[in-house]
Amino acid sequence: MARLVEGAVDFHVHPPWWIRDASKACKHLAAAEDRAGFSRFVVIAFDADEDLLDRLKPGDIVKAAMEASDLVAYALHMPWLARAVAEPEREIERLREDLRIHRRRPEEMVKCGEATGWKGIPVISYNPSRSPREMAEIVRGLEGRILGVKVYPTFHSTPPDSPRLDPVYEAVREIGGLVIVHTGCDPGIWELPAMCRHARPSLVKRAARRHRDLTFIVAHLGAYSALKPGIFFEEALDAIGEDNVYADTSAADPIYVEKAVREVGSEKLLFGSDYPYVHGLDIDAAAGEIEALGLERRHLENIFRFNAEKLLSRHWRK
Ligand SMILES: [Zn+2]
Repeated sequence: MARLVEGAVDFHVHPPWWIRDASKACKHLAAAEDRAGFSRFVVIAFDADEDLLDRLKPGDIVKAAMEASDLVAYALHMPWLARAVAEPEREIERLREDLRIHRRRPEEMVKCGEATGWKGIPVISYNPSRSPREMAEIVRGLEGRILGVKVYPTFHSTPPDSPRLDPVYEAVREIGGLVIVHTGCDPGIWELPAMCRHARPSLVKRAARRHRDLTFIVAHLGAYSALKPGIFFEEALDAIGEDNVYADTSAADPIYVEKAVREVGSEKLLFGSDYPYVHGLDIDAAAGEIEALGLERRHLENIFRFNAEKLLSRHWRK
């Protein structure tokens, strides 16, 4: 379908996990973006080593569940939580399997970009099992072939303002790239407040103040949560008040996009479909929901095209 906004950019998508080969996965993605009328897309990896899960103890899951002040609400909405608490070892094994299925290494992301003729613009994932120096070297080695790095404060169990990330941020700045940070909660045990406490836009703001000449993107408008949609939305609005902080609309209920435009304007918002991770939504449907909000044309132009073009012309050297 042709988009309302010509030359639209989807700023937040992932390689389809069910196609293991990175080139094939991203060709599939490029075809899907093309059908939905997008001319370019930012394709984001998730990566971590399995030892990350060795550090997660069964007792941590139980403790995080017990700390949830509204545990009953969590248990009612999420029957899996009761299972996870009853059998935390099995939950960790399940997470291990998830990690194997979804991870994409930096070199795969480069293949992904190549396979799409660079219509797909790769962002690699931070990997907390690597030393900050090692991670920074990886980033420098990929100059011109990646747009930047994404941090998942939930899975990576790393707050975005952690000093551990400073060398990585510095390397991203050197290659002229940008940093994307997952904010809000995440499916599974990561929905528990103790497990998503690092994924706050206020911590992105802190990092952005320390790294004034580096661009940060608050993914999901801080709103990602199955049980408490919009959980850190207000913090996200506050964070994008910083010159070097933007936010993407991926996986956020469109009401938050409308609210954000009303409260702070559209100059800092980027459309992201989060394909293929948002259940029951295809790229076209995700875009259609925002187009249907009744926003003024200039806002749609900003969200779907101008803001993305501005960032890509600054940070993408291909
Ligand atoms: Zn995503």
